[in-house]
Amino acid sequence: MRGVGGTRLERGVAVRPQRIYPDVEMAERSSIEWTEATWNPVTGCSKVSPGCAHCYAEAFAERFRGVPGHPYERGFDLQLRPDRLEQPLKWTQARMIFVNSMSDLFHEDVPDEFIESVFSVMAEADWHTFQVLTKRSERVAQLASRLSWPDNVWMGVSVENQRWTCRVDHLREVPAKVRFLSCEPLLGPLRLDLQGIDWVIVGGESGAHARPMKADWVREIRQQCQERRVPFFFKQWGAHNEIGQRVGKHRAGRLLDRRIWSGLPVITRTEVTAPTPGSPRRRVVGIRLA
Ligand code: SF4
Repeated sequence: MRGVGGTRLERGVAVRPQRIYPDVEMAERSSIEWTEATWNPVTGCSKVSPGCAHCYAEAFAERFRGVPGHPYERGFDLQLRPDRLEQPLKWTQARMIFVNSMSDLFHEDVPDEFIESVFSVMAEADWHTFQVLTKRSERVAQLASRLSWPDNVWMGVSVENQRWTCRVDHLREVPAKVRFLSCEPLLGPLRLDLQGIDWVIVGGESGAHARPMKADWVREIRQQCQERRVPFFFKQWGAHNEIGQRVGKHRAGRLLDRRIWSGLPVITRTEVTAPTPGSPRRRVVGIRLA
């Protein structure tokens, strides 16, 4: 739909045409170990807790501040991107999609109505699985009853140290099919109540100012997961290796006690394929190892 002055209208919101920057806009593939693609209907954010101190999204976005026409021309300032709302509907191959790798969907400056639009796209694009991760867990709990929670929407909170385990309590109030924790960057030991939690991801910090993560903190979380039979995913050591030496993310790797830990939630759901012209959607009921 065309609007005034070359703008398009998408879901009732005027969208100005922009030059395409494939590296930052093509989000169909992701290098993040626990997902397959990223989708950023919001970009930009502000810091809320110690885990944000060296936010990779901020560092990335600020590199382009002031570059005319670049999607991050305004750096890490919070921006709604209504023109991206329908991207997942165009990706016909089923994917695991991390929502807002460059922001926090539940940021206080994102209107309730926009969050509802994101959730309605996720419900519509039901051949994908969406992973939504936030540090604004209180707002998720407040809004939860206004949002729809289809089986293909997983909800997670970040927990970097004991002070922020209150986010796990907020998450438990959310009726998502899969509730998960991202303990990254892990900044201290954690005693977790894992009741109602389906998946735990742990990772250390990378980057120039990375803070080291102690191996015993990771082992303690793994132990808690094993006791509660919760899948445990060890994503990376980060910039420091198991004994605290700064060796860089790639050399530090992701082995813990000589093996890779890639636990994932096992769920039962209806498999759905994307609609294609002339062919009805195929539905197969079965076990899905997501
Ligand atoms: S909440 Fe996430 S995106 Fe926002 S500043 Fe913190 S780490 Fe960055």
